[in-house]
Amino acid sequence: MIDLLLRGGTVHDGLGSPAVTADVAVTGDTVTAVGTDLGPARRTVDVTGLLVTPGFLDPHAHSDMVPLMADPQPFKLRQGVTTEIVGNCGYSFAPLSADAAREASVLFADISAGVPVRARTFAEYLVAVADAGPTNHVAALVGHNTLRLTANGMVRNLRPGAAGHMARLAAEAFEAGAIGLSSGLIYPPGCYADTAELTALARVAHRWNLPYATHLRNEDNELLAAVDEAVTIARDARVRLQVSHCKIAGRPNHGTAGALLDRLRAARAAGVDVRGDLYPYRAGGTFLGALLPAAAHEGGTGALRSRLLDPATRAALRAAGGLFDLTEPGDVLLTGGPHTGRTLADVTGTGDAWETLCDLVLADPGTGMVVTLMAERDVRALMADPLVAIGSDNGVPVGLQHPRTWGCFPRFLGTYVRDLGVVDWPEAVRKCTSATADQFGLVGRGFLGPGAVADLAVFDPDAIGHGGSYAQPDVTPGGMRFVVLAGHVVIDDGTFTAERRGRVLRPA
Ligand SMILES: [Zn+2]
Repeated sequence: MIDLLLRGGTVHDGLGSPAVTADVAVTGDTVTAVGTDLGPARRTVDVTGLLVTPGFLDPHAHSDMVPLMADPQPFKLRQGVTTEIVGNCGYSFAPLSADAAREASVLFADISAGVPVRARTFAEYLVAVADAGPTNHVAALVGHNTLRLTANGMVRNLRPGAAGHMARLAAEAFEAGAIGLSSGLIYPPGCYADTAELTALARVAHRWNLPYATHLRNEDNELLAAVDEAVTIARDARVRLQVSHCKIAGRPNHGTAGALLDRLRAARAAGVDVRGDLYPYRAGGTFLGALLPAAAHEGGTGALRSRLLDPATRAALRAAGGLFDLTEPGDVLLTGGPHTGRTLADVTGTGDAWETLCDLVLADPGTGMVVTLMAERDVRALMADPLVAIGSDNGVPVGLQHPRTWGCFPRFLGTYVRDLGVVDWPEAVRKCTSATADQFGLVGRGFLGPGAVADLAVFDPDAIGHGGSYAQPDVTPGGMRFVVLAGHVVIDDGTFTAERRGRVLRPA
């Protein structure tokens, strides 16, 4: 007996094949058949006119602590996302020593969702997530920032034995079920690492055949050199490479998406399996302190505060240059603290924006921002490329956040696929599904066919979309009608059932 029959939908296999009109049969947690006349079912849903696709996989999530929140948080399910990959940009919430947890509770405040940051091994973190019950499946990368924080604190130079300590912690994480290694090379303390340090950790990932995902060392003027570094690491360690949130940042660099794509293709021609992900917006979002040069953060938040209290050091940091020079104060929207919803220009008034920035970071080193950095033509050129998947880079669903948190996938499908035709539907679905499942080795997911895990999204192609804005981002997307999680209908005719059916996924 079939448990669930989705009848008459437009079925996409997630591999880029043309759609077919067919029924989809689910028994237990598995898709058992795709076709017609599949037999009687305990529940039959008429999905005529709707697209039936594999559930989406988000390669770039920062929802690490969301499962530990008191209430279930369906903001990804409502987008059709059935699997999130967390631990990105070098930030995982394990392994953390007691000292590292204290530092991380400030450093990672923007993505900790108000949940206390505790000392945990990677295995303990995965158990905590599984026990809490995520609303969607979660797979976790181990982050280089976190490894370094635990093994070496916030200082620049590695102490004797710290490199070996990091390698042991990474091996423990992979043994426990981490699905890869991530780095965030603009963020302290990860930014203090040289190429050799990262290669050594990627070699540990290679022993488990796991990928390396990186927030590149630079995404603006030195982007291509940063790509070359990542490719060198992946080539020397023989791991797959994921370039996180591909972008061309900074006005002087706009229009050069082709150069980035050429670089990725050249790396593939040289034998490195490199791919990327992207969110469909011109603005990024991170913590406000990222506008300061990396040197400002050396030694931790105490040292940062001392520097910002000293006028001469402030001036020296300004002269050192950084992301601040590539943005306009009016393009920096504050998402935390007393000025939430105002821009850096608003708060500065007739004063000096650099001084305002330093004052704001001093007042709250963990506060967040949304910052417009990209050109629309670059976003579309990267999005159209087959090497680039869709990934949200979401924040936690609390307070003012970048609208990608609530709307990344519906916006891609509605605005960029249906309205603008940047790619066709089969390719769009592939970018949201198998493109990520393959890269991260999530076997049985990302395709729709007999034997696949029954993670499914069912949506109206005419209604899919997101009405959220930067000022009011936390809007429920339109068009997502059903989401099935391992056979359980968790979005039922547009309504979240409040179940916490997600599992922790480990490498096959
Ligand atoms: Zn990042």
